[in-house]
Amino acid sequence: MNAPAEIPARKRFSDLTRDELVQWCGDRGEPAYRAEQIRKWMFAKRANSFDEMNDLPKSLRTALTEHFDLFTAKLVRHLVAKDRTEKLLLELGDGEVVECVLMREDDRRTICISTQVGCAMGCIFCASGMEGLKRNLSTGEILEQVLRLDRLLPSEERITNMVVMGIGEPLANLGALVPTLAVMTDKQGLGLGARRITVSTVGLPEKIREFARLGHQYHLAISLHAPNDELRNRLVPVNHRIGVNAIMAAADDYFSVTGRRVTYEYVLLSQLNDGPEQARELADLLKGRRAHVNLIPMNPVKELDLDEPVQPRTMEFRRILEEFGVAVTIRKRKGADIDAACGQLRLEHEHDRPVVSLDVSSPE
Ligand code: SAH
Repeated sequence: MNAPAEIPARKRFSDLTRDELVQWCGDRGEPAYRAEQIRKWMFAKRANSFDEMNDLPKSLRTALTEHFDLFTAKLVRHLVAKDRTEKLLLELGDGEVVECVLMREDDRRTICISTQVGCAMGCIFCASGMEGLKRNLSTGEILEQVLRLDRLLPSEERITNMVVMGIGEPLANLGALVPTLAVMTDKQGLGLGARRITVSTVGLPEKIREFARLGHQYHLAISLHAPNDELRNRLVPVNHRIGVNAIMAAADDYFSVTGRRVTYEYVLLSQLNDGPEQARELADLLKGRRAHVNLIPMNPVKELDLDEPVQPRTMEFRRILEEFGVAVTIRKRKGADIDAACGQLRLEHEHDRPVVSLDVSSPE
């Protein structure tokens, strides 16, 4: 029996590397500079279709349209908060959804992107991991979030910062993340300085070292949330297999290889990890290290029975850290009225889906 004729799949344009695009143009007898023209339309001129690329020959535009989809995700929801934070819920080719966010603060335009559908880390306060990990995103799927958010900005504004703090554990999908970061920092790409990109991780030691060895100036943030294993095991279950000491050693390596001060994120959970004794223990852990602590008052998640910290305890926590000479900031909440915290909107969307029940009863 003959195998069915294979229908060539249309490719997501943003999955193509620069070299592959040059090659694709070459295969069509087009000079290499065409690839740069196309990339300029994508990244600088924010084209929404190949047809718009009016300095390309018509035949090339047609070939591009036949072979590639510029964007493949479907916009399911677009929310705008009172503080002008915008959030997109994007449906991928296989029906999975991810979210990404644009935040505005003075002249900063910061985007927050997802790297996985769901998450395997299981942090008890986080909406993203509540239903486990479904799959990794491809480079194109990550990049598409960037490009869609970029197109929300007026022509005179650019993305100034990026945080990889959306759904998923970025270092568990380093293979897809690294090429995305390369496009972000490429002068002919989004042209963002590596120092303006923050990758946030639950703390996977070997992956932190691999990330350091890339030799870039990316900013690393480690979601610590507890100063000791006993407490961290309860809040961040994956810690059982890692341990705080191994994370600190990897963070020290990151600092010595890149020279970049590491940020420790610490989500404050009322009465669980927000007491003065934890603040002192954290200060002790960070003693002698070039570190910065970012305190994050927990965003309440409907499905979870956890309380936000009360302000006096948050202030006291900060005071103690400062008293011990630790650099500390408290994260401002953005887009609270649109559930901007990672994973919340996707979770709500999953729960709103109609339940499809199959009738498996045998016919009468
Ligand atoms: N997996 C990565 C990146 C995604 S989460 C990581 O663990 O760092 C990005 C940050 O948001 C993490 O510091 C995470 O702990 C925090 N976060 C998750 N749920 C939160 C919530 N409900 N309130 C406040 N911060 C939360």
